[in-house]
Amino acid sequence: MTCGLLLCTDMDRTLLPNGHQPESPRARELFHRLVSREEVTLAYVTGRHRALVEEAIDEYRLPLPDYVIGDVGSTLYQVRGNSWELQQDWQDEIAGDWAGYDHAHLAAMFSRLDGLELQETDKQNEFKLSYYVRLDNDSSAMMEKMQDLLHTEGVQASLVWSVDELKGSGLLDILPASATKFHAVEFLRNQLGYERDQTLFAGDSGNDMQVLTSSIPSVLVANAAVDVKAQAVTDAQASGNRDALYLAKGDYPGMNGNYSAGIIEGVAHYIPESSAWLNGNDQHE
Ligand SMILES: [Mg+2]
Repeated sequence: MTCGLLLCTDMDRTLLPNGHQPESPRARELFHRLVSREEVTLAYVTGRHRALVEEAIDEYRLPLPDYVIGDVGSTLYQVRGNSWELQQDWQDEIAGDWAGYDHAHLAAMFSRLDGLELQETDKQNEFKLSYYVRLDNDSSAMMEKMQDLLHTEGVQASLVWSVDELKGSGLLDILPASATKFHAVEFLRNQLGYERDQTLFAGDSGNDMQVLTSSIPSVLVANAAVDVKAQAVTDAQASGNRDALYLAKGDYPGMNGNYSAGIIEGVAHYIPESSAWLNGNDQHE
């Protein structure tokens, strides 16, 4: 019998209903009820930095988590009320990849490259460099040049490229190679002493994929894109982890499986006794 649950969830379009699909009216209220249980430790796992996590918590009236894995895995905070404590153990864990270099060193190394502009200070941290990149640049050639510079210095980094359609700008994050959502969830799980089967991850896309297709029990919310669902199933199957991936379908309990309804459905799938957590033990259904 499971006696505790480490519930780790992505924010945008997983917990936050900020996609195109509708949210079931009671979903977030039930999510609150679920995570207020003593058995549940809640972690938000997100690309957002601290201020943007706090903004989302306010805007969407979300429960305060116990932990936040932020900045795409490059920060880990323990949250107690208004106090956010950056976990030095995690910083030490990922620091090795950068061979003694930090943000300032790498920024200096890249300063002679054209077409790169550092993003605002709040989007940077010791182990995350974030740039705006002009879209008329040859971004793959630039990233190759950057990786060459990094290799020369013995730095293991991942370069994460995306495009901000609204701003018409490329976005480039440089992170320690091991600063991933997967590695951070595993680190937190080990630190807190949870078994894999006492852990559940919820996500919807992109950088969630590595966790979704790993042996960590996971749920893909129903609002995820069709191609993401297909890819997740294929990858989970290929790595022998199909049993640890659940696709929310909707209809539990009478909700549509999108966003927090999907997370709740995932918890119910892996931990059947959690239905009592939602209803109160004295009720049927
Ligand atoms: Mg997301």
